[in-house]
Amino acid sequence: PLSKLSNVGTTIFSQMTQLANENEAINLSQGFPDFMPDSELLNHVDHFIKKGFNQYAPLGGMIGLKEEIARKIENSHQAIYHPDSEITITAGGTQAIFTAIASFVKKDDEVIIFEPAYDCYEPTVELFGGIVKRFEMKAPDYEINWAAVKSLISEKTRMIILNNPNNPSGKILKENDIQELIELVKGTSILILSDEVYENIVFDGKQHLSICKYPELKERSILVASFGKLFHVTGWKVGYCAAPKNLTDEFRKVHQFNVFCVNTPIQLALAQYMKNDEHYTYLNQFFQEKRDFLRKGLAGTSFELLDCEGTYFQAVKYDKISDKNDFDFASELTINHKVASVPFSSFYKNKLNENVIRLCFAKKQETLEKALENLSKI
Ligand code: GLN
Repeated sequence: PLSKLSNVGTTIFSQMTQLANENEAINLSQGFPDFMPDSELLNHVDHFIKKGFNQYAPLGGMIGLKEEIARKIENSHQAIYHPDSEITITAGGTQAIFTAIASFVKKDDEVIIFEPAYDCYEPTVELFGGIVKRFEMKAPDYEINWAAVKSLISEKTRMIILNNPNNPSGKILKENDIQELIELVKGTSILILSDEVYENIVFDGKQHLSICKYPELKERSILVASFGKLFHVTGWKVGYCAAPKNLTDEFRKVHQFNVFCVNTPIQLALAQYMKNDEHYTYLNQFFQEKRDFLRKGLAGTSFELLDCEGTYFQAVKYDKISDKNDFDFASELTINHKVASVPFSSFYKNKLNENVIRLCFAKKQETLEKALENLSKI
């Protein structure tokens, strides 16, 4: 057969954004801010382009940026990564995830993922001949039953993919989850791919527990983060991967033939901008206000709010409004009520429908107000 991914269509994020545009709907589907990034950051980019930094970067990334990342990780999680040999700048979080899977997953290796899951994990594992084992976290709490996860482990398990905070459920891992994970992998050679792109968006004073805080996990983990989420620049497609040297060496063997390296002037600009920690420490509060505004507005409607501990996504149940499945409901909401969302079933291989949709609140106040106006008429 021609197709290596015969069960895969166009990603739901592109589908819903297209449907939103066709219907001139307010787009709360794909996760991206509709406001400008800080002009200081934009000025840095302009500066470095005009100064002539327009050729290839080193394949691992610009050293100044890797040093700033190492500093951020050390300050936030008390974990040390060597900037030159353990941090790699990637073309966004998704490329880091793809490259990590390509580097380590061989044919017939098993990979454990937690659903609802970001849609690139499973097809990427499949591309490299791996087999996905899934644990379904379910509404309303999206709790992980670690005994059930343990039953998925076999001698073929090569990798566990975590997404913390979780897109789309907004759930964060707690200390007991981490301790269970430590027990689970003890004495095995299982690797952990930890997608933490929303690490700086956690609410109500809760703490993001990065995998790298725990030495017994750090030594087997590939940590992925994203500047798109950190500085409101998803279109720049710059992220990074932090991993111990032995894992980074393997990661870079693939990375060099995948993208080779990433945008030079933007890396320089990001490095300059990262020198001030306040450029990201405000994010928790900033997005909490948006979350609370959306939640308050929805509280007066027939939508039922699920918890949102982190990320810039609010999950809502719509049982009281419609008995359509979530995909049809999300389409109807876009076409008839001009608000686009993402149906939760698209984050489950088996299309588990629990009548939940995801609303992105990384939007201007005005956008959220308009969306609430439409949603409250339903
Ligand atoms: N991560 C974003 C989301 O979940 C967008 C991803 C994408 O469009 N590929 O909406």
